Amino acid sequence: MITIQDLKFKTFLNKEQIRERITELATQINHDMAGQNPLFLGILNGSFMFLSELFKQINVSCEVSFLKVNSYHNMASSGKIRELIGLSTPIEGRHVVIVEDIVDTGFTLDFLINTLQKGNPASIRTITLLHKPSAMKFDHKIDYLGFEIENKFVVGFGLDYNGYGRNSEEILVKAD
Ligand code: 5GP
Repeated sequence: MITIQDLKFKTFLNKEQIRERITELATQINHDMAGQNPLFLGILNGSFMFLSELFKQINVSCEVSFLKVNSYHNMASSGKIRELIGLSTPIEGRHVVIVEDIVDTGFTLDFLINTLQKGNPASIRTITLLHKPSAMKFDHKIDYLGFEIENKFVVGFGLDYNGYGRNSEEILVKAD
C-alpha cells in the first residue's frame, strides 16, 4: 500500500509493463509517421512523463511542444469553460499528435481537437497512455492507446492526486 495524502493506493501497472507498452507505441508511430515530420503536443501537466519516455524512442524527424488546458466553471451557463494555453508553434499543414496522460470522459480531447482544427493542420492524431472507455462521452478515435482501464481513479507516471503522486514510476489505483 502506498499512501498519497489521505488516500491509499496499490500497484496497477508496474514499470516494466509501462516501459514495454510505450516501446510498442513508439514503434507503431515510427512506422506510421515516417516522413511526416510530426509535431507532438504534450498536454500538461499529466503527460510530461509519458511524453518524455515515448519521445526518447521516436526516431523519425519531429518536433515537440507543450500545451495546457485551463478549465473553470462558468457561473452563467453552469458549464465548464476550457481555454488552451501555449500554442506558439504554427500547426498549419502539420501532422499533429496530441499526447495525453489519460482520456476519461473525452471532454478535454474533444476541446483540443476542435480548437486545433481551427489551425488547419494536415492531420490530428491522438495518443494516450490510459483510457477509460466506459466513461467516454465522445466517439473520437484514439489512434494510439497504451492501456484501457476500468473507471477507477489512478495516479502516478505523471498523473496526480491533489498535485501529489506524479513522481511514482508505477501507475497506482485507489485501494477499495
Ligand atoms: P476528460 O476531459 O477526458 O474527462 O479528463 C481528462 C483529465 O481528467 C485528465 O487529463 C486528468 O487530468 C483527469 N483525470 C481523469 N481521470 C483521472 C484519473 O483516474 N486519475 C487522475 N489522476 N486524473 C484523471
